[in-house]
Amino acid sequence: MRAVLLGPPGAGKGTQAVRLVERYNVPQISTGDIFRKNIKEGTELGRKAQEYMNSGQLVPDELVVDLVKDRLLKDDCKNGYLLDGFPRTIFQAEQLDKFLEEQGQQLDAVINFEVGYDTLIARLTGRRVCKSCGASYHVVNMPPKTEGLCDRCGGELEQRKDDTKETAVNRISVYEESTAPLIDYYSKTGALKNFDGETDPDQLLEEIVSVIGE
Ligand code: AMP
Repeated sequence: MRAVLLGPPGAGKGTQAVRLVERYNVPQISTGDIFRKNIKEGTELGRKAQEYMNSGQLVPDELVVDLVKDRLLKDDCKNGYLLDGFPRTIFQAEQLDKFLEEQGQQLDAVINFEVGYDTLIARLTGRRVCKSCGASYHVVNMPPKTEGLCDRCGGELEQRKDDTKETAVNRISVYEESTAPLIDYYSKTGALKNFDGETDPDQLLEEIVSVIGE
């Protein structure tokens, strides 16, 4: 299965990705996670991406496209993958199409989550992530058993720098301007499948599977 997760920040792409990779046994390719890892490790790419990310802007296309292409050529992507957070611009989508054509492949689905503005803000500002393993929580919707600590590994929870109210608002408007046009782009190819991103995550998984197939 080759699929793209589409939707504004806070739509639940990451939450659903965890479920989908288990169901379909394909890797999750999250460009945001790749950048955060690079920032943590202090690489050149991380240094370049950091400023854009902290202010809620998109990292320039030229830093993203080759990175994703290289990743998709790795062995574990042979039977498919789930793209989470890529493409985010029309240019990125066109580059992905070109790459797929070269490989003689095509996307099976573009899974688009629709979520209201107030829900997005509440989800983003309440999100907490584990510093060690990256597991995601929410102060109201999904609190950890012990406040401030990860259920899975006991690591310390923190708020992502770009999940503050101001940056969250900015990220949503960047989404509207640069990424939302992809809905139209993919509806023309017939790959687009729309879902209500406010549905309970486990139920949503079943709805997605029933639409895109086992
Ligand atoms: P995410 O974890 O998907 O919310 O991404 C966090 C941040 O990483 C975004 O706000 C962007 O600054 C950057 N980023 C992730 N994916 C991309 C992409 N495909 N194109 C440009 N910037 C990206």
